[in-house]
Amino acid sequence: MTRNHPAHALAAASLFLGALPSQGIEIVLDFTLDEQNYNWFDPATSEGMARRQALESAAGFLSTIIRNDDWNSLPTLNESFSFRDLSESSINDLDGNPVAGAPDPDGTGYVYSSISTTNRSSVGANQYIVYVGAFVFDSGTSSHAIGGWDSNDRRNAAGMDGTEFNTWGGRIYFDIGTDWYAGSNPGINPTNDYGIQDPDKSPSTDISTDNWDWHTTLLEWKGFQLSTIDPSVGSAADLYGVGLHELLHALGLTNSNFINYIGVDANGDAIGPHLVAEYGGPVPRSSSGGHFDYGTQAEVWDSEGIISEANLDPSTTNGNRKYLTRLDAAALRDLGYDVAATWAEAAPALDLLIDLSGAQARLDWTLFADSEHTVHWSTDLVNWTSVAVGTVDTWTDPAPVGTRRYYQVTR
Ligand SMILES: [Zn+2]
Repeated sequence: MTRNHPAHALAAASLFLGALPSQGIEIVLDFTLDEQNYNWFDPATSEGMARRQALESAAGFLSTIIRNDDWNSLPTLNESFSFRDLSESSINDLDGNPVAGAPDPDGTGYVYSSISTTNRSSVGANQYIVYVGAFVFDSGTSSHAIGGWDSNDRRNAAGMDGTEFNTWGGRIYFDIGTDWYAGSNPGINPTNDYGIQDPDKSPSTDISTDNWDWHTTLLEWKGFQLSTIDPSVGSAADLYGVGLHELLHALGLTNSNFINYIGVDANGDAIGPHLVAEYGGPVPRSSSGGHFDYGTQAEVWDSEGIISEANLDPSTTNGNRKYLTRLDAAALRDLGYDVAATWAEAAPALDLLIDLSGAQARLDWTLFADSEHTVHWSTDLVNWTSVAVGTVDTWTDPAPVGTRRYYQVTR
C-alpha cells in the first residue's frame, strides 16, 4: 500500500507515488503538432503545463497497467494521420509548414486527411506514439475532443493474424473553444483519488457527503463530482477524464475495431468475451459505434465497488471526472491488450514516505529483498532523471530545501 504524506509537506515538494512503467507498452505523447500550432500545452506556462500533466498522467496510467511486451520496433516510420471538424482552413504540419484543409463533407469546417509523421523516423519496441493537438473545432460538431488511429501496421504475429490490434500509434486533439479543467491531477496512479460513494447504489437522493454524482431521474451514476474537492471546476470539462477517453480511441477502441476485433452481434452489441463476462451479456453500443451506449454503468477499475458511467460512454457531464472502469479495461482486453486487474498487480507498491521535517526531502520505502532500487525525479512529470541507489530503503534528495520535485521509486 502507499500512503500520502501530510499536506503541509506538499507545499515544499510533491510526492508522486508509484512505479515508472518498466515493462509493457509505453504510450509516448508527442506535442510537436501543438507546438507548431496553438502551443496550448506549452510547458513554459502554468496553464499549458497543467494540461500537459493531465494527459501525461492518463497516458502514464495506461502505460503502467497495459503489460504487452512483445511489440516489435518499427525501424522506419513513414505514416500520416488525419483530423476533422476543425474551423481552421489551414494548420501547420509537424515542420511548421502550412497545410490547407479540405471542406468537411459534413458541410461545416475542414478536414486534414494526411499530416505526415515527419519528426520521427522509427518507433521503439513496445512504444505507442500518440500525437497531441489543440485546435478550434467547427460549429457543426458537438465533440470537444477526438481520438483515433490510422494504420495497417501491426507489431507482432497476433497482430498480423488479426487476433490483436496493435499499430504504431494515433492522435488525440482538443477543442480550445471548450472550457477545460486541468486541476486535481491524480498522477499516474488514480486509485487513491476515488473518494467515497454512497453505499446505497440506487439512492433516492444524491447525498452531499460523497464525491460521486448520482442522477436522480436517469437513475445513473455519472462520475466523480470534482466540485466536492475543488469548487473552482464550475461547469468545465475534465481534461484528465476526457484525455483518458481519447487515448482509449487512440489505442484502437473505435467502431471498425469493435466490428473487426471485438465482435458484435446482429443488434450491434459488443460480444467480446471479456466484455460479456464483465457486463453479464452483450454490451449495447451507441450509434457512433466506437462507444458504449449512453449511461452505461460499470465498476471503477480497482475501486472495490464504486459505480460510474463507463469512460467509453459517448459523453461526460461537465464538472465530473470519469476514471477507467472495469468495462473499459475489458474492451481493451478484447482488442488484445494485457490489462492488469489492480494497481498492485501492475506496479508492486512501495510503502513510500517523504520526510521534510529535516532539510532536504528524504524518501523511505519498504525494501524489496535483493532488489536494486532506482529513484526517479522530475520537475514536470515529462522529463525524468533516474538515480540507481542499490539495495537500500532510503534516499535523501541533495536538491536544496524548497525544491519542487515529483518522485518515484522502482525496483
Ligand atoms: Zn469518444
